[in-house]
Amino acid sequence: MKLKIFLTLGIVFFIASAFGVGSIRYLVRPGDRLFNIIRDYNLRISTVLDLNCIDDPRSLEPGEFIYLPTGDGFFYEVQYGDSIDYIAKLFFALAEHIIAANNLSCNSVIYPGQRLFIPLESISVCSNANPGTQFTWPVYGKISSEFGWRKDPFTGVSIFHSGMDIAVQRDAPVFAAKEGTVIEAQENGGYGLNIAIQHYDGTKTRYAHLNHISVYVGQRVLRGELIGRVGETGRSTGPHLHFEIIDSRDQCRDPRSYLTGSNYMYVRRETDSLGVGGR
Ligand SMILES: [Zn+2]
Repeated sequence: MKLKIFLTLGIVFFIASAFGVGSIRYLVRPGDRLFNIIRDYNLRISTVLDLNCIDDPRSLEPGEFIYLPTGDGFFYEVQYGDSIDYIAKLFFALAEHIIAANNLSCNSVIYPGQRLFIPLESISVCSNANPGTQFTWPVYGKISSEFGWRKDPFTGVSIFHSGMDIAVQRDAPVFAAKEGTVIEAQENGGYGLNIAIQHYDGTKTRYAHLNHISVYVGQRVLRGELIGRVGETGRSTGPHLHFEIIDSRDQCRDPRSYLTGSNYMYVRRETDSLGVGGR
């Protein structure tokens, strides 16, 4: 089956990772549409958009190269100081799933620059929705600025902060806090690269200062689905996610009142409480 796809769809070459999960470089041919390619390869659109810089999935040009993961999931480049446990928390995943997917063992050493594969099915299994509101944390990080009045980090003048800032390293994954439809996925002034999602109950969420957008306008996303990567685009003093929750009357609300406590950002499904963590 794989060989047939290999021959019929014109793959140029295979970039193998040391662990057997990698990506292929695919030459777009006349008549190709991204939605057909992902169907042929059994991939979700976000896994392909995450790996490539494609602004509009409807605008592929023949002769262009795109990368396709050989399994459905996302790559993460190990940063200095990372551990498997920490990377698992960034993806709201289980460390044992990442270990298995990359043919590692509990004693394996990981190194900065190493590319790990995070399987789609293990993502967001450890995120914890507030049963009252059904919102989950969009990123695993440290709250660096709360919603409300604060001194502007650039001018020192008191100004209203319409969201919550969650500091975490660049390229950390960002997840949809609730299911809905993407209504904005582009550069927007001080927000930098940003995404807005319309939820079915009339609320909206915004994710700003991204380094990369992995969704397109009109895309339906599930709660816990990867939508982009953390950055510092727009008016930002360092890598962080600016996260807003907007009610059905277009008023920004304090995300704290919609989310579980930050010490319950990451919660394992198992009974042991050692898996509970926040920052
Ligand atoms: Zn902010």
